[in-house]
Amino acid sequence: MKIVLATRNKKKVEEIQRVLRDDTIELLNLADFPDCPEVVEDGDTFVANAEKKAVEVARATSCHALADDSGLVVDALDGAPGVYSARFAGVDATDKANMDKVLAQLAERPDQKRSARFICVISFATPDGEVNSFSGAVEGIISDTPKGDNGFGYDPIFIPEGFDTTFAQMGAGQKDNMSHRGRALLAFSQGWKP
Ligand code: IMP
Repeated sequence: MKIVLATRNKKKVEEIQRVLRDDTIELLNLADFPDCPEVVEDGDTFVANAEKKAVEVARATSCHALADDSGLVVDALDGAPGVYSARFAGVDATDKANMDKVLAQLAERPDQKRSARFICVISFATPDGEVNSFSGAVEGIISDTPKGDNGFGYDPIFIPEGFDTTFAQMGAGQKDNMSHRGRALLAFSQGWKP
């Protein structure tokens, strides 16, 4: 079966491919469908955005589509950056600019006031518009400075609960085992029936 990953984020494609390794599924992505229209992520929630992306891409490609909407939720920032994680420091902001903005807003706060979680919603849609969603989360704290070179996005400033290294200091497999995306994909692979 062919499934199109509804994202142009190469790092997300790599993570999803690693976790969903399955000989019965051929995973395509939007690089295979250059004419697929861009989906505007204008929802207020991760679920709304993930379902919109999955449904629109499934319709446009006539394939089953799997979309991920994810982000970082920081308690002391009232849940920001949340659904605006990719563009927290502005449209087309770099990962570094987004991380610097979070760190600046948390400056001087002690560890117990730096709690945060990554959230991921995976939505799976059929070409005729049926959609199901699965979520995953990982709790942690925001570090004082960025550390590590692996992963993407806010990985260098996120220390998962029970560890003293950031996601960016971990190997890919270690992050997959506990990450929001790993957990949402596990729920999808266990809950989804063709
Ligand atoms: P979107 O889901 O494409 O709207 O963007 C999600 C944004 O959240 C990414 O661009 C990252 O900034 C952030 N994000 C989501 N998942 C992760 C992750 O696993 N590590 C680090 N940052 C992430």
